[in-house]
Amino acid sequence: MTTPHQPLTTLSEDEKMFFQSVQDFAKKEISPLVEQMDESEHMEPALVEKLFEMGLMGIEVPEEWGGAGSSFFNAILAIEALAQVDPSVSVLVDVQNTLVENAFLRWGDDHLKKTYLPQLCGKKVGSYCLTEPNSGSDAFAMKSKAVEDGDHYVLTGKKVFITNAKEADIFLYFANVNPEAGYKGITAFVLERDMPGFEIGKKEKKLGIRASSTCEVLVNEVRVPKSNVMGEVGKGYKIAIETLNEGRIGIASQMLGLAGGAYAAALKYSKEREQFGRSLSQFQGIQFQIAEMATRIEAARLMVYNAARLKDAGQPFVKEAAMAKHMASDVAEFVASLGLEIFGGYGFIKEFPAEKFYRDAKIGKIYEGTTNMQLQTIGKMLLAE
Ligand SMILES: Cc1cc2nc3c(=O)[nH]c(=O)nc-3n(C[C@H](O)[C@H](O)[C@H](O)COP(=O)(O)OP(=O)(O)OC[C@H]3O[C@@H](n4cnc5c(N)ncnc54)[C@H](O)[C@@H]3O)c2cc1C
Repeated sequence: MTTPHQPLTTLSEDEKMFFQSVQDFAKKEISPLVEQMDESEHMEPALVEKLFEMGLMGIEVPEEWGGAGSSFFNAILAIEALAQVDPSVSVLVDVQNTLVENAFLRWGDDHLKKTYLPQLCGKKVGSYCLTEPNSGSDAFAMKSKAVEDGDHYVLTGKKVFITNAKEADIFLYFANVNPEAGYKGITAFVLERDMPGFEIGKKEKKLGIRASSTCEVLVNEVRVPKSNVMGEVGKGYKIAIETLNEGRIGIASQMLGLAGGAYAAALKYSKEREQFGRSLSQFQGIQFQIAEMATRIEAARLMVYNAARLKDAGQPFVKEAAMAKHMASDVAEFVASLGLEIFGGYGFIKEFPAEKFYRDAKIGKIYEGTTNMQLQTIGKMLLAE
């Protein structure tokens, strides 16, 4: 682990302490595992247990359901601090907090909250299952179906690219109860790994965030009690849209953290590596590159923190969240690429962290809405103002 990149932006003393505690945890517990987990495409189960012990798997969930009772903003800080060391671990925590638990908190009834939130905060990983083979950006064209049968629904369908699916026990699964009604038939269901007919399919091999599992989820006539419908029947589209609006601040924060990690590594290396009898950092050309990286990171940080603070304050934040994800994923790619170049040839080989940050950065422009989808949201909202 290199010198941690500290936020320049104003944080309260409590927020600073929290950020520092997650950075310390990441340095001590995650750093030694990063290379091996990337190489083996495997998330270390003992590390996942430690994430639960640290309270990072239920940051915003009130204490009565086993969570830390903290803010969305602190979840965003944790995602950033983790991504400075390993964006794969960061996205595991991100999906748990900003998508899965967030949905339970906002749309779960008492039964769902009481049954699942203590498990999600205590020991069970959650997954968010929206994307299908033929519906990604056009998510509501999903083919997964749910047919009413007494006090159950019977679900059949296939999801792809599902983060955390290998580790998860609890799945928020979107299916259509009335395909003729189009998106107004989409309904959110809570599924469990051991339900008959439920199966995890192929695990994808990936360019980056390789320790994070990305799998197919196969659902073959799974009987789900009606009590496991989240929110109203036919209103799942609203849950999907609104959780993703919030979730993308998490991805923005993951990309912000990644940029911070790549920057810190490049800065450290530039001070250590000597060419022409001086450290690289003494060349103005390198100083300008470092200044450019730090400036863009700070710009992304302000946007990410602003979106998260707006969300916590109950203010409109959707446009700002889309802008933050767009900007942070762009900055992550820029910083990871330039950071790698500062390492020269060593940037291209696996003994140094730069190449992994570069590979990991690419996903930021793709998941939880591609950059084009963010631009579409921003454009629509600007035109409606
Ligand atoms: C590692 C990984 C993890 C993921 N995790 C999850 C998860 O946990 N849960 C989940 O449900 N999904 C997950 N996804 C899926 C992810 O959200 C989708 O891949 C993403 O939304 C894009 O969908 P698509 O791959 O079908 O691309 P497409 O929708 O086919 O898009 C292809 C290209 O066309 C562009 N495009 C599409 N429509 C338009 C348009 N109207 N205007 C302009 N351009 C357009 C896109 O921007 C993109 O460049 C994950 C994906 C990956 C790779």
